[in-house]
Amino acid sequence: MSPDPRSLAERISAETGLEFSGREGRDSEGTRWLELQPAGYPPGQTFTLRTLIGWRRLDVHFQPGSFAGDLMSAMGSADETGRRTFRAVLDVCREADAEVALTLNGTSRLPDDSAIWETGWRSFSLGVRKGMLAINEGNVEEDMRQIELWTSRVAAAVLALLPLEVEDEGLEASPEVVGLPEGAKVRVETNRYERDRRNRAAALAIHGYSCKACKLDMSERYGAAASGLIEVHHVTPVSHLGEGYIIDPRTDLVPLCPNCHSVAHRRSPPYSIDDLREMLASVNEEV
Ligand SMILES: [Zn+2]
Ligand SMILES: [Zn+2]
Repeated sequence: MSPDPRSLAERISAETGLEFSGREGRDSEGTRWLELQPAGYPPGQTFTLRTLIGWRRLDVHFQPGSFAGDLMSAMGSADETGRRTFRAVLDVCREADAEVALTLNGTSRLPDDSAIWETGWRSFSLGVRKGMLAINEGNVEEDMRQIELWTSRVAAAVLALLPLEVEDEGLEASPEVVGLPEGAKVRVETNRYERDRRNRAAALAIHGYSCKACKLDMSERYGAAASGLIEVHHVTPVSHLGEGYIIDPRTDLVPLCPNCHSVAHRRSPPYSIDDLREMLASVNEEV
């Protein structure tokens, strides 16, 4: 058994709200890859995320399709929230000793170079390479965990720039989708906890799937049925943030399991993560 593209597609779909299909293959050197593509769009009009599984190394590549010009230019004019989320996720990759290679209009650039937003995007590619990994050494579960983590980081960085058409009755579509050709929009699903799907994907790519308060990873208790089931909590309630405040997924958002999240909101303003940890610790002491 080896990491399979279908379960990777399921995980990244759950995380981003964007539905992906997965396939697999090998490159000319025989290195195996898993590839994701948004489901239900004409091939070539969107993009692929390809994860090469090397020896102790993962390479994740975002590659737009040959006819994704509208998507490119929309990504290049992403709003400030999108740009900052993009940078925040790629910063986390670099802090984890991954190499980030960004090419814009044929030139190699740095993700924190603000000049990349001052030019029209005609071509763009992004690669994240993480070496020195204990991967491809026979532990399939650990391999899959690493593949999911690094693929989800690139997916979250890219999602931050995509023009999103949010499918939720309670939410207005993001203003940046207005006036874009149909092929340049991607549809994501969201729920009441996720005011901005990009933030959720970024928070999970940064913090992972374990509850920050009780450390539970839902899939470890319930198995595959609970895979990816985690809620993203705003440390400071959105209603307390000033107008125009731009959320930093590293510090403003934390993953919480449904139990801890419910307890946090039994008070307004909510209990802090430290409060929750203290509750859990003091109850355990009494046992
Ligand atoms: Zn919890
Ligand atoms: Zn919350």
